[in-house]
Amino acid sequence: MAFLRELEKLPEERITPVYAMSIFGDAGSHIEFDAYRAGVPALAWIVEDSVLQDSLWRGLQPEVARCESIVVDDERVVLELAGGRELSASLIVGADGAYSFVRAQAGIGANEKAYDQTAVVANFACERSHGNVAYQWFQGGPVLALLPLPGNHVSMVWSLPAEAAQKIETLDEERLCREVEAAARGTLGQLELVTAPRSYALRRVAAHRMVQPRVALLGDAAHVIHPLAGQGLNLGLQDVRALARVFEGVQDVGNYRVLRRYERSRAEPILAMDSMVDGLYRLFGAQGRVAARLRNSGLNLTDRLPVLKNILIRQAMN
Ligand SMILES: Cc1cc2nc3c(=O)[nH]c(=O)nc-3n(C[C@H](O)[C@H](O)[C@H](O)COP(=O)(O)OP(=O)(O)OC[C@H]3O[C@@H](n4cnc5c(N)ncnc54)[C@H](O)[C@@H]3O)c2cc1C
Repeated sequence: MAFLRELEKLPEERITPVYAMSIFGDAGSHIEFDAYRAGVPALAWIVEDSVLQDSLWRGLQPEVARCESIVVDDERVVLELAGGRELSASLIVGADGAYSFVRAQAGIGANEKAYDQTAVVANFACERSHGNVAYQWFQGGPVLALLPLPGNHVSMVWSLPAEAAQKIETLDEERLCREVEAAARGTLGQLELVTAPRSYALRRVAAHRMVQPRVALLGDAAHVIHPLAGQGLNLGLQDVRALARVFEGVQDVGNYRVLRRYERSRAEPILAMDSMVDGLYRLFGAQGRVAARLRNSGLNLTDRLPVLKNILIRQAMN
């Protein structure tokens, strides 16, 4: 968050601190993370995507044109834009999301796998105060999260098998609210729909490389992870910070050796996060009583180990 505040002024009233996380397993287990007990001001800060984008756009003077092709040679990279104009630079940074055009043009392959889930996203007003707690329910495959927003609003991310997600998305407003209330076990009282539900098919993507001479990938262009830990954008922001660091005092920012330093510094954190998130997805989606007992006793046990919880909190906040 400090990094974002440095980049551009975000409206303070749209930044919601998360003081606790309450996570429920699918067989009665529960774990709670608490900022106060961990000795940190907040576990996380939630900013809606639209607010973040507005702030970032305000800091730029964008010139938008469709890029038709990218040609890289030893010295320069040349972008051919629609209408015939050309742009030339020492480096192109592909920050164009999961279906990255830059990645494709650079000929960088990627391992891609569809998660068998679709995330339904919507905002609700809730009857009871969320108290700046982020809630999550593992439901033996599906995962429901209600994340605190300013006032009494929450943002829902409900990852479900595609068919179930389609059913949820097409429910009328009244039934959708009752369905989410029931899945959230009435924790926040009655809900009222604020924004229409939207859905996203979930995928895992890992680019074979993050860099090659005069090309660097960052964010979802380089790696897409399951949203269950809410860490996708965070990973991308860490990429930005790491890339900016390797440019310090450097003349040619497109130099391969410089870019390799960025790639090396990001390899381990990205692999660790992707493996952790994918592991959680598998563990909480595995069918059968043994798997259910294992994951639920794991949650309960971790909840009783404050030192381990503090380590987990500090790692997630890096
Ligand atoms: C349901 C869901 C919930 C999530 N929740 C969280 C969360 O709580 N916390 C978190 O940290 N992450 C979360 N994520 C992940 C997060 O949304 C992504 O990791 C993040 O948006 C990636 O940012 P990005 O800028 O790399 O890519 P994107 O957000 O995809 O942005 C890429 C941009 O590039 C533009 N673009 C694409 N192609 C071109 C082109 N050819 N020319 C010009 N522009 C182009 C696009 O228009 C877009 O504006 C969630 C993801 C999902 C699906």
